Amino acid sequence: AGFLKGLKIAEARQKMIELLKENNLLVSQKQVIHRTPICERSKDPIEFINMKEFYLKQVEFKEKILEISEKINFFAPESRQIFVDWVNSITIDWPISRRRYYATEVPVWHCKKCNEIIVPPKGKYYRPWREKCPVKCKCGSTEAEGDIRVFDTWFDSSISPLYILKYERDKEFFAKNSRCSLRPQGKEIIRTWLYYTIFKCYLLTGKPIFKDVWINHHILDEKGAKMSKSVGNVIDPHELLEKYGAEPFRLWCAIEGNLDSQDFRCSYERIEGAGKALTKLWNVARFVSMFPKPEGNINLMELDRWIINEMNKLINEARIKYEKYDFHNPAIALKHFLFETFASHYLELVKGRVYNDNKKFSKEEQNGALYTLNYCLENILKLFAPIIPFITYKIYKDLEGKDIHREEFPKAGEKIEIQFTEEELTELNSAIWKTKKEKGLSLKAEVKEITLDKKFKGIEKDLIEAHSIKKINYGEKFSIVI
Ligand SMILES: [Zn+2]
Repeated sequence: AGFLKGLKIAEARQKMIELLKENNLLVSQKQVIHRTPICERSKDPIEFINMKEFYLKQVEFKEKILEISEKINFFAPESRQIFVDWVNSITIDWPISRRRYYATEVPVWHCKKCNEIIVPPKGKYYRPWREKCPVKCKCGSTEAEGDIRVFDTWFDSSISPLYILKYERDKEFFAKNSRCSLRPQGKEIIRTWLYYTIFKCYLLTGKPIFKDVWINHHILDEKGAKMSKSVGNVIDPHELLEKYGAEPFRLWCAIEGNLDSQDFRCSYERIEGAGKALTKLWNVARFVSMFPKPEGNINLMELDRWIINEMNKLINEARIKYEKYDFHNPAIALKHFLFETFASHYLELVKGRVYNDNKKFSKEEQNGALYTLNYCLENILKLFAPIIPFITYKIYKDLEGKDIHREEFPKAGEKIEIQFTEEELTELNSAIWKTKKEKGLSLKAEVKEITLDKKFKGIEKDLIEAHSIKKINYGEKFSIVI
């Protein structure tokens, strides 16, 4: 640096101006605005210094990496593009050495005599900065200096699947279990963790190392801005967990985390809402557990067959979605089923038959209700188990004495033909409840006369009991007299 030697950059700039002035070489001096790289955290300007570093060739493998990545499934499929764009944007090889203290040492020595780089035999972890070189140089010299540099963090984290698969340690295990079934990770490290892992495992094995890749998006702050330490808008997960609990947070994440869309906002209100769903689940389980399991013959009535059919539809839907790492759609459908279909409609209609205080139903019909309640609760718990593992474990353990996570994922029974749809039934119930409310009556108040579509004939007994109906007619036009 000549006459600038030893000066800091800012000082050197000042010195430069002084010297130009002294020599009458300064033509003009003014302020300009220009782009300059700055540190993301400290905001200090970054100065580049050319240094010799180790690089791993990657530019020449770009086409091959894109080709093998075609054999990997991306969830959601759209996230593949982030990977493809990154690979296409690579223009230089991968600088793998760093001048830092804490990381994996670059295991090489430099021959003091001929300057050759000496690589030790593989199989052992070397620390060249404190260990003597284990082998002689080609020139015959034993005098070598250990390298003091370390690897880029992705250089060794990129072999994690190989470690899991016991690569080079257990050939049989590796052959049987590769490739890895899943890499779950955030979108912000596609260009690092995912890319370097696929790249390095390709260099070592020649294969795509993952079957599936599942990309998560980000939770933004309440206003929709990216959380960042330096901006100060980070929501501390510990506080959230302390305030709302981990299970509501898990359920909320599943409900909001739609892989097909993008980032989603943190909402305290909605996390609290997810907590209410857990309370609902707990209360439904408590209600069902108040009654004994059915003993003797079971007569499934039309209402039971209807909710079993709805439950089965949900089982099929959840199975298909879970297989695609979609927790969002099952979570929403399950929450709706729990609150609306099951609790607000089926439970309300079947309560009279479950208690059967007036013995209006046969033992077999009562058993039908008990069987159905248990069938639905058991399946609701099993479908929720991947999302909210602890509360489902607790309820199932209390009810069945077994570990829900060791149970088989439910399979839906055969489709049952039902005369009415869920929407039609919920509309009917709501119309009756609304009429009673408008007249300031309790929901148990008597219905003197009602005219319904004949499609509801099959659930007549449950309707009469639940809504205290005195006279029921069938016709095209709905009417109600209270
Ligand atoms: Zn040498």
